Amino acid sequence: MASPARCFPLAWSGLLIVAGLLPAADQKPAAAWSPRVQAVLEAIQPLPSPRRTRLPLYLWPASNPGRLDDAAAEQLVRELDRRGVGLISSWSPAKRETSLSQSLSIARAQTRLGVPVNVNATACLHKFFNGDERTAHVDDAGRPFWDESFDTNSSKHSIGCPFTLDFRVAAIREQVDQFARAYQQAGLKVDFIFADWEIDGPLDYNGAHAAAQRCARCRKQFQDPANFLEFQKTVRDLRSRLQRSVFANPILERFPHALVGNYAVYPHDGYRYWYDYFETFAEGQPHIADQRARYRLWAQEFPATGYTCAMPVVYTWYPTYTWYDFDNGDYRWFYNMLLVASNAGRSTPAEIPIVSFVHWNTTAPPRDPDPAVKQFSRQAYQELLWHMLLRGTDALFLWCMQTEDAEECRLVHEVYAEAQQYAEFLNDGKPVSFEVPKRPGIVVSGIVRENQLLVRRTDFVEGRGDVAIPLGTRTITVQPRPGKCQVLALD
Ligand SMILES: [Zn+2]
Repeated sequence: MASPARCFPLAWSGLLIVAGLLPAADQKPAAAWSPRVQAVLEAIQPLPSPRRTRLPLYLWPASNPGRLDDAAAEQLVRELDRRGVGLISSWSPAKRETSLSQSLSIARAQTRLGVPVNVNATACLHKFFNGDERTAHVDDAGRPFWDESFDTNSSKHSIGCPFTLDFRVAAIREQVDQFARAYQQAGLKVDFIFADWEIDGPLDYNGAHAAAQRCARCRKQFQDPANFLEFQKTVRDLRSRLQRSVFANPILERFPHALVGNYAVYPHDGYRYWYDYFETFAEGQPHIADQRARYRLWAQEFPATGYTCAMPVVYTWYPTYTWYDFDNGDYRWFYNMLLVASNAGRSTPAEIPIVSFVHWNTTAPPRDPDPAVKQFSRQAYQELLWHMLLRGTDALFLWCMQTEDAEECRLVHEVYAEAQQYAEFLNDGKPVSFEVPKRPGIVVSGIVRENQLLVRRTDFVEGRGDVAIPLGTRTITVQPRPGKCQVLALD
């Protein structure tokens, strides 16, 4: 998700057919399900021990397998669960009957097998700003206008006036609730449901503040229309309330124990350490500078959404590499991504699961990427995933493009599978370190459970011996053990 490339699915599949990676229309795939799901099954192996109580691993290609009969649905759900993977169904109002019947079939199989029922509700939330002129900003001459600062090369977005959307709530809520209602009527529940609701609704960054200051309706809403902090608080509160009304509430009213979340919405320390592909820095806005990075002041939007899981985004966004001057290129990626993950881990209450989106291949590169931007190494990426797990990430959610499926799935699954031996630590333990070294050095993360510490140490410098880390009133010595976790006894 969150890549401009997903806007070209037809072009992509055409290229892939030419390249021989997908069957052409007249060659039926051998499996009952989609080629992407089959690629997942072939790329990864069953877990050494059952998943039990750990949250599943979520993989973008392990979703929407197509029309399956009950036996095939059950076979697929079982095969994926043996690998620790949760199959996801998408709800699509534009294809209501088809998407409902396909997702009900999978939900029935998941329920029979006693594994979580997982849903992608992205399409149900689109869109508040549907082009209706009643939702546009309005200038001093009474003419409607749109904020075009969220348009990308591949798509236009009619971002309008945040104070016009009340009349859209009932329609969007019903887009969600019609599916939730059908599940309930079928005697099914939802365990995990997320949306990728991003470039829609009230937004505060890019040119949003400038557009609001041009809008006669917006200006009346603020004591000081030029004050960004007042603007941000007001707009993000509106954005949170909309998400609660149309998404969190209708789901939780029917399924009180569901994990509900939205891409990129999570508790944090007041700053955002990354930019989505459609986001740009607007000069003058409040931020922290770190070398060439500018971390934006971010509103505390999570609590008012009513969401029950946090969904940070830990991606190799292309510009990240050029923000820092570390000689060790891997540490440019690792440093930023660990900042993002640690921020969410430290800021999220223990009872709120963190489901982190991850992506290894350089994310959203330009058409002619600079060869100086080096791909994150596999090894350092897997180390990062370990440190995320030891800093509060409860579940990993891989997003990737079809050409990347096999390798992306394999990398994240290797860590998920190996971490299964530490399930008790990961389920019940308490992370003890959120430190991110400002220079390539030694990164240590750990989880305490009862009288044991599960710890991992990754060195970005050579030749260092034991290191001491503070743990409460004590100091714990951690020896180098590359590529391995250690379980230390606490007296
Ligand atoms: Zn306005």
